[in-house]
Amino acid sequence: MIQISGIPASRGIAIGPLFQFRRQELTIECCPVSDTALECARFQEAVNIARQQLSAIYETTLAVSGSDDAAIFEAHLMMLDDPELHSSVEKAIKEQGFNAEFTLYETAESIAVMLASMEDEYFSARAADVRDVSTRVLRILLGINESPAEGLVTPSIVVAHDLTPSDTIALDKSLVLGFCTAVGGATSHTAILARGLGLPAVVGVGEEVLALANELPLILDGSQGNLIINPDEAVQANYREQQVKSAGRLMQAQQYAHEPAVTADGHQVEVVANIGSITDAQDAQMAGAEGVGLLRSEFLYLQRDHLPDEEEQYQVYRPIAEKFGQQPVILRTLDVGGDKEIPYIEMPLENNPFLGVRAIRLCLARPELFKPQLRAALRAAAGTNLKLMFPMVAAVEEVRQARAMLESCRDDLITEGFAVAAEMEIGIMIEIPSAALMADQLALEVDFFSIGTNDLAQYTMAADRTNRQVAPLASAFEPAVLRLIRHVINAAHKEGKWVGLCGELAGEPLAIPILLGLGLDEFSMNPPAIPLAKQIIRSLTLSQAQTIAHTVLNLPDAMSVQDHVRRQFPEIE
Ligand code: PEP
Ligand code: MG
Repeated sequence: MIQISGIPASRGIAIGPLFQFRRQELTIECCPVSDTALECARFQEAVNIARQQLSAIYETTLAVSGSDDAAIFEAHLMMLDDPELHSSVEKAIKEQGFNAEFTLYETAESIAVMLASMEDEYFSARAADVRDVSTRVLRILLGINESPAEGLVTPSIVVAHDLTPSDTIALDKSLVLGFCTAVGGATSHTAILARGLGLPAVVGVGEEVLALANELPLILDGSQGNLIINPDEAVQANYREQQVKSAGRLMQAQQYAHEPAVTADGHQVEVVANIGSITDAQDAQMAGAEGVGLLRSEFLYLQRDHLPDEEEQYQVYRPIAEKFGQQPVILRTLDVGGDKEIPYIEMPLENNPFLGVRAIRLCLARPELFKPQLRAALRAAAGTNLKLMFPMVAAVEEVRQARAMLESCRDDLITEGFAVAAEMEIGIMIEIPSAALMADQLALEVDFFSIGTNDLAQYTMAADRTNRQVAPLASAFEPAVLRLIRHVINAAHKEGKWVGLCGELAGEPLAIPILLGLGLDEFSMNPPAIPLAKQIIRSLTLSQAQTIAHTVLNLPDAMSVQDHVRRQFPEIE
C-alpha cells in the first residue's frame, strides 16, 4: 500500500481501478511501398471504420445534445466521404508509391493550409475540420486508440497529466469515479469541472502517478488530497464507512435544499449556482439553486469548431434564462486566456498568459468577438432576469468602454427592430487586487460585484493557480485575500450595491461562516455544493459568523484561518 499526496480539489471518496488517460502523439513515417493497390485498400478500410465511428458519435450527440451540437459530426462525415479527397489520396499513392499514412497526411495538410489561407472566415475555419477528420483516419491506420478515453469501459478513477475542459467533457461521466492529475492547482479548471460534476478529485500529485498500471486498485480522497495505491482490506473498509456517512449527510441536506438560506437569527442570503451548460442548469435547480451567479459562457463553446454567431448564442442563453423564470441568471462575457483556450480563437503567444490579453482585455480589443455576445445577451434579457457581468476588470476605464459598447449594441438592436431588455443589471467580477482596492470607484459604475476568489487569490499572492508547487500560497483562505473581500463588500454596500462571490471559496464549508460574517449577499457555487452550504448557513447566527470573520482577519495565514473555523464548528466539514 502506497500513499501519494496532492492538492484536494473536489471533496468525496472514490474507490476503484485506475484508468490512464493518455494522449498518444502521431508519428507519420514516409515509407515506399511495392503494392500500391494494397495501400489504397488500407486507406479505404480506415475510411470505412472512421465513418462507422463518426456515425455513432453523430447519433449519440443528436440524441443527447440536439442537432446544433451534432452538426459538426455531420459535416465531418461529409468531408470524410468527399470524392475529391479520395481520388487525390489514391492518385498520389499510385503515382508516388508511398504508404497510405504519409500520403493522406500530406494531402490533407495541403488542403488544410490552402483553406487556412482563405480570406473568408467560414472557409479558413474548415482547415481545423480537415485536420480533425484526417487525424481520425490516421489513428486508425496507425492502430492508435481513437480517443484517450477509449478503453474506459468500467467505472474507474481517471488518472491524467492534466485534463483540458474539452477532455473532461468528452469523457463518459457514468464511468468516471473520480479524477487524479499530475499537475494543476485547486482552482485550475480541471478541478472546477470535477466539482461541477460532483466527482472527487485530487490534483498536482506529481508525474510518478503516470507510470502506474491500468486497473491497479485505488482510493482517491478528494477531501484530504490523497491517493492510496493498493489499499489493504482494513483501509478500504474504513473509507467505505466514510463514503456511507457522507452520503447520509448529503441526503439529509438534500431534503431541505429547496428551502431558503436563512441564518438562525433571520438573516437571509442568496445561494445560486455556477454553471457552464443547460445540463448544469438542470442540476442546479435540482440542487436548490435560487438562480445562476456565474454562467461561464466560454464553457458553452468548448465542443465546437467555431465561435457561435449572435443568433446561436441567443439560442443558448435564452433557454437558460427562461428556465429560471424571474430568478437571476448572471451571464459572464467571454473569459478566455490564462488556462482556458478555445482552439478556434486565435490568441497571441504570451510569456505570461495569466497577465496577458485575457477576458475583458481580449473582448475590448476584438469587438468582432464581443459585440455578437453583447447583442445576444441584450436580446436574451428581454422579459427574463438575465444580468451581464464582465470578467477580469483591472481599471475603471475598461468598465466604461465595455458599457459604451453595450449601449451602442442596444441602440443598433432597437433600430433593427429587436426586442431588448429595457433594464439589464450590469456587474463586474472583482478578481484583480487593483479592482478590489478601487471598489468604491467601481461601485459607481455598475449594479453589482461578484468576487472571483480563484483569480483574486492567485493575483494577490502572486501564485499561479495551476502550479502545484505554489498551490498552498494560492489559497483564498489567506487573510490578505479575506481582507480584500471585506474591503470590497464594505465599499459596495456604502453605494447601495450588492456583492456576490463566485470563486470556489463560496462553496467551501469552512469559508461559509467567514463570508457570511463579512456581509456577503450572494454565494455562487457548483451545484453539488449547494445543499450542504444552505444547511451550514441555517445552522449559524449572523453574530456568530461576524465574530468568526473578525477573528480570522487577524490571523497570520490560511492554515490558521481554516483551523480556527474547524475548532469553532467541528461538524462543519
Ligand atoms: C474566479 O476567478 O474566481 C472565477 C470564478 O472565474 P474563473 O475561475 O472562471 O477564472
Ligand atoms: Mg476568474
